[in-house]
Amino acid sequence: MAELPEKLIACHDCDLLQREVPLGKGCMARCSRCGAVLYRNATDSIDRTLAFALAAAVLFVVANNFPIFSIETQGDQSAINLYGAVLSMWDQDMKPISVVVFLTAIVAPSVELISMIYLLLPLKLGRIPAGYTLFMRTLQYVEPWGMVEVFMLGILVSLVKLTNNFKVIPGIALWSFGALTLLLAATAASFSARDVWARLWKGGAREVQP
Ligand SMILES: [Zn+2]
Repeated sequence: MAELPEKLIACHDCDLLQREVPLGKGCMARCSRCGAVLYRNATDSIDRTLAFALAAAVLFVVANNFPIFSIETQGDQSAINLYGAVLSMWDQDMKPISVVVFLTAIVAPSVELISMIYLLLPLKLGRIPAGYTLFMRTLQYVEPWGMVEVFMLGILVSLVKLTNNFKVIPGIALWSFGALTLLLAATAASFSARDVWARLWKGGAREVQP
């Protein structure tokens, strides 16, 4: 029983239980019944995902602590950052939008990045992170709620509209958000839950994956 999770895999689309086969570098295994992708042999996915997640975390801190843009009116300049925008929407009776932006542009990406780094950094150093099942589940639930790219699109639309009436000066957080959008997409694309479970299993973890 001890080796069961490494040898058998259920298709996510049709539930057919199949035996895993070793794959060459960059190859993928497909379900023999429906053709869905079962798993890939993505080399060093943990290293790459960790690198992307660490870079994204740095940009996330910058994006949240510096102005997204400043508006100049009659000699006065007012700058706005992400948290300031959330508070401003809350004060202007746009409470539901304010909560959605707070959850999708601040909370979800923070939880996703913290969970990824918490899991991947110890694995990279050859250790098993405590409570890894909880963090793997958290990643699964929180990932669909991270919508920095939608927020980025909203910022760009606002900028174009504002430039008609005001002098708009892009801030450092605007560029950070642009790069963060790409890095979060790269992190999600390179993350392989299967590789993480395999590494956990090899390291001596014995809780069965959900
Ligand atoms: Zn299938």
